[in-house]
Amino acid sequence: MTTKKSDPATALIHHAYRAPEGFEAPQPAVHKASTVIFPNVAALRARNWKSKAGYTYGLHGTPTTFTLEERIATLEGGLQTLLVPSGLASIALTDMALLKSGDEVLIPDNAYGPNKELARNELAGWGIAHRFYDAMDAAALAAAITPATRLVWLEAAGSVTMEFPDLRALVRCVRERAPGATVALDNTWGAGIAFDAFDLGEGLAVDLSAHALTKYPSGGGDVLMGAVTTRDEALHLKLKFAHMRMGWGVGANDVEAVLRSLPSLPLRYAAQDEASRLLAQWWAAQPGVAQVLHPALPGSPGHAHWVSHCRAAAGLFSVVFDAAIAPARVDAFVDALRLFKLGYSWAGPVSLAVPYQLAPMRERPAWQGALVRFSIGLESVDDLIADCEQALKASGLR
Ligand SMILES: *Cc1c(COP(=O)(O)O)cnc(C)c1O
Repeated sequence: MTTKKSDPATALIHHAYRAPEGFEAPQPAVHKASTVIFPNVAALRARNWKSKAGYTYGLHGTPTTFTLEERIATLEGGLQTLLVPSGLASIALTDMALLKSGDEVLIPDNAYGPNKELARNELAGWGIAHRFYDAMDAAALAAAITPATRLVWLEAAGSVTMEFPDLRALVRCVRERAPGATVALDNTWGAGIAFDAFDLGEGLAVDLSAHALTKYPSGGGDVLMGAVTTRDEALHLKLKFAHMRMGWGVGANDVEAVLRSLPSLPLRYAAQDEASRLLAQWWAAQPGVAQVLHPALPGSPGHAHWVSHCRAAAGLFSVVFDAAIAPARVDAFVDALRLFKLGYSWAGPVSLAVPYQLAPMRERPAWQGALVRFSIGLESVDDLIADCEQALKASGLR
């Protein structure tokens, strides 16, 4: 009779080998867990999911998610960050944590569209009112504030139309007229690079920044994630309770992808900023163009506010065509593009274009002509200009 080796079924799970401690490498380790193992009952009872001093359950954080949270907080100049499964979820978490029935939320008319859709549908169904205000007019914000206003969204630059608001004037207006309200900024465009949301100057700051990590922090067009960053512990805890109760976890592989991309964020932001300004200037000189909307371009709406708030700009701009040009011809131009791909989102390596009709998107659209929003990737600027030129010719716009 031979002595039997231990049963591999158990041995492979409860293996005695422990890799030595002290491994260091450029990228942080990736920890994956739903279950977190406690050394004893006392530890299980003592650990508190609200504190980052220990681990309780995968949904409440791992070394990997804590590491990304801390780095995003640093990027944005905040103190606490929560990760959520998408940029839109960072908006939804903010709304759900801070609003209850009878409250009112104010949203810029030029905000990211799904922010407005969430208010029109789910929030309205829960008895939470909303108003859309003109972010380019602090007096319009002042007029929209009521005693029920609990949350005011800001976005800079505006979605698709790229108007840059006077953030300091808007924050000051909320502080004076609705001192108890939370000021939340969708900081996806600035990404912690273009301006400091938590230090806008003149002692003004937002309370909370929601950021689609899907865009610059990922930079690959292959991850969906969001973050909510604060500098106030009580506000953070309010968000963290809602976050925990709603179960909005993120996957370790996605967190790893963002951690991998984060060190190159400032370089990518600068490169896309430079390239998009060159392309925006080229477009401004083309016939048939009514206006180029890029906050760093003189004449673009809110350019003076951009100058007074920002040190950089994201790689995004929109071209408004003359109202006399049929939208179908502009669609044909977009279809004729070869390097620019047709797709939503931005801040990835591939340049993108999307045609928009403003009328259904705004209460008071400021432009009549068809509009194309461009997101500049990492290709050569000369090749991107040549692509626009050939598509203008192919579609008969030139
Ligand atoms: C993309 C985007 C979002 C949403 O991010 P997702 O991860 O796609 O949900 C929110 N706000 C702005 C300004 C965005 O550009």
